[in-house]
Amino acid sequence: MSPQAQPVPVRIPFNKPYMTGKELWNIAQAHTNLHLAGDGEFTRRCHAWLERAPQVHKALLTHSCTAALEMAALLADIRPGDEVIMPSYTFVSTANAFVLRGAVPVFVDIRQDTLNIDEQLIEAAITPRTRAIVPVHYAGVACEMDTIMALARQRGLLVVEDAAQGVMATYKGRTLGTLGALGAYSFHETKNIISGEGGALLVNDPAYADRAEIIREKGTNRSQFFREQVDKYTWVDTGSSYLPGEVIAAFLWAQMEEAESITRRRMAAWEQYHRGLAGLEREGLLRRPIVPPECQHNAHMYYILLPSLQARTEVIRRLKQSGVNTVFHYVPLHSAPHGLKVGRCAGPMTHTENLSERLLRLPMWVGVDAAAVIEALCQAVA
Ligand SMILES: *Cc1c(COP(=O)(O)O)cnc(C)c1O
Repeated sequence: MSPQAQPVPVRIPFNKPYMTGKELWNIAQAHTNLHLAGDGEFTRRCHAWLERAPQVHKALLTHSCTAALEMAALLADIRPGDEVIMPSYTFVSTANAFVLRGAVPVFVDIRQDTLNIDEQLIEAAITPRTRAIVPVHYAGVACEMDTIMALARQRGLLVVEDAAQGVMATYKGRTLGTLGALGAYSFHETKNIISGEGGALLVNDPAYADRAEIIREKGTNRSQFFREQVDKYTWVDTGSSYLPGEVIAAFLWAQMEEAESITRRRMAAWEQYHRGLAGLEREGLLRRPIVPPECQHNAHMYYILLPSLQARTEVIRRLKQSGVNTVFHYVPLHSAPHGLKVGRCAGPMTHTENLSERLLRLPMWVGVDAAAVIEALCQAVA
């Protein structure tokens, strides 16, 4: 074996799910309550927590953010041939949810500073077939929502926020996921507040509330029946099963109760990275994340931008040699095999292509030894 091929033990993993210690106790409670299907006591508590943001009319737990986005596409009555504007630099679910309804994802390039959709390019991407805009708040840093919302209002388009990474983050003091008509959260184990798999749909425009409940409950009016608003429970719309069971909600509730402290502790690691890497940025060896002053992020991610794809490949290799696991992120959807088939670019994807090749995500979790990562990185980029 050559020296390079020798496996180096992982000293600092890229992600490590955080447990508050109350998850299993809550799950035991759910068993004691003898309510294991969805929409029991723990789901109600999670809904109330999500509904504490004043703009949220109704929150609904789902089994993933993907499910919440699929619900949004159903609520929007997306038809084959409709167009939905989104960044190419995002997770596949942003597009798939709408592609499942026959829509064409129309990709818009990203901004160099935040890596979010470039709001200045959206208007030119609108055609008579455009139905919705899906801003994605990358790394929990908000898109330029005032501009996007004003344009959507003017052109009669629906805004669905993919706020998968945005739990506990704000834009001009307003909670991400509560700014568009609909917002989607993820509680996947790689996110900040977790339940393994999990998500939520935030219904901010009350016009969508009744149908959202129905779509989530297999197209039935079961929820209205349990509230005794109707006297029988029947099939009233197209729908599916999008709700999680109580075991998941019980787990999630333990996390929600500690959301502030989880966010604080992640922020401390983020700040440590940011201070510790200022010198390398001054030397021109990397670029640190840029957070506009109106955005309060949630330390979902700490990424760096390296000078080139080759530099990134080499840094990943060197860090791995010192036991530090780092990962790159999205392969832009417009150039992915299925994106080429079903999507369309609204213009050149210059920044998307360039930045996605240079981005590297550093280990980010509660308790991560950021100092050790910084030290390894200083050696790796030298
Ligand atoms: C994680 C993520 C999703 C998918 O979330 P799931 O809960 O795994 O379905 C969608 N969009 C973005 C931007 C994400 O980061």
